Amino acid sequence: MPSIVTQAIVLRHADYREHDRMLTLLSPSMGRVEAVCRGCKRPQSPLLAASEWFTLGEYVLYAGRGRLNVSSCNVAESFFPLRTDYERLKYATYILSVAEAAAQPGDRAVELFTLLARSLSRLAYTDKDAQAVAAAFLLHFSAISGYRPRLSHCVRCGRRMTDDEIRLMDIAEGGLLCADCQSSLRPARPLSPAQARWMRDVLARGIDKTDMPPSDAPGAVLSEYVETRMEKPIRHEGLWR
Ligand SMILES: [Zn+2]
Repeated sequence: MPSIVTQAIVLRHADYREHDRMLTLLSPSMGRVEAVCRGCKRPQSPLLAASEWFTLGEYVLYAGRGRLNVSSCNVAESFFPLRTDYERLKYATYILSVAEAAAQPGDRAVELFTLLARSLSRLAYTDKDAQAVAAAFLLHFSAISGYRPRLSHCVRCGRRMTDDEIRLMDIAEGGLLCADCQSSLRPARPLSPAQARWMRDVLARGIDKTDMPPSDAPGAVLSEYVETRMEKPIRHEGLWR
């Protein structure tokens, strides 16, 4: 079998025999990929950088002994500053876990790969509030996954809502909930008009063109929304203010 060349981001690594690691990669063309990185834990291994969390590079893979293996990697980005800032590392690790939970082996993941790379870059190299970057990741992630939340109309009755009517987001239905449709039986979470506006802005123009007091980024409600849709709880203790 000829070698495979693909861009990838390291989503996770696990120890595998004495000197090796098993990598979980996100590839735009192949989705989630498991590959053994042989010898990467030996001192001075040229593959050590290729086997670290977050690394983005061009990986050359080959099939052997019933598995994919990394034969070489041209590292493009290590996002090194994430490793020196615990606060930003927490959010970067969380969005990596969301990507890992969503990516499927063999399914193309071009949009997810691009979104993850850009979000890691913002966390590593800009001073943008880390919670806002992670919340924007979740928002775009929901859009590319096909469940962009409805942020102008009540998700139950379809009525258009003015900003000052906004109080709640319906987690199960994925959108605003008006006062008439509110019921104790429906799982809804508080959402302020400013938060709804911020989400609309981020979806329309991207986070770089969107201002917001950092403490208001609706990370908690978005992580509950995304994890409910994926049916996969992901650890996020201490992440949302
Ligand atoms: Zn309604």
